[in-house]
Amino acid sequence: MSPQRLRRQICETARELEALGLNRGASGNIGVRCGTGFLVTPSGLAPAETAPSDIVAMDFAGHPQGRLRPSSEWRFHRDILAARPEIEVVIHTHSTFATTLACLGREVPAFHYMIAAAGGNNIRCAPYATFGSQALSDHALHALEGRSACLLGNHGMIALGRTLPQTLALAVEVESLCEQYWRALQIGPPNLLSDAEMDVVLEKFKGYGKPASGG
Ligand code: 13P
Ligand code: ZN
Repeated sequence: MSPQRLRRQICETARELEALGLNRGASGNIGVRCGTGFLVTPSGLAPAETAPSDIVAMDFAGHPQGRLRPSSEWRFHRDILAARPEIEVVIHTHSTFATTLACLGREVPAFHYMIAAAGGNNIRCAPYATFGSQALSDHALHALEGRSACLLGNHGMIALGRTLPQTLALAVEVESLCEQYWRALQIGPPNLLSDAEMDVVLEKFKGYGKPASGG
């Protein structure tokens, strides 16, 4: 996809995150691999006031181009894209239920089989570190090992994927799972699925949504 189309798609996705209630105002950000570097949303701008030309291009050394400052979280966007070659898109939100659990420092266990959508049998919660810090990036990378989503302690969540629509869908799914887990916790500890059951789901997910082969 051309950098120009990618910039437009980043703006659309940021507006969609707000319309879906996953982000409000300038909270959250989006990073996408592009050429030898990556594109990231500008710092402190709400989606409604962000134009495609405001999206900041950066190299992996952390040098931005253009007149606006990159998201304060450019470090974790860069570090995730550098460490995970299979990933093209990083979406960060302060969505309510993910953030609620993150404020309790709670990981989301296998209370529902859809936890497998994030790549394993739990969604980890990274320890707290100051927003924009290298420590936050280091904690996030660790919590994302073998996963495509994590919570960030006292902060929010991160979802990873290959395209903007697919990563947006994962962010929505993670937020739904956090809401369901939070609701289940109101009544009592939910029944958790065993690692063996989750292995079955993770295996089934490898072929899920793909065309049937062999007629
Ligand atoms: P930016 O506006 O700098 O991207 O910051 C928002 C945010 O979510 C910080 O964690
Ligand atoms: Zn944030």
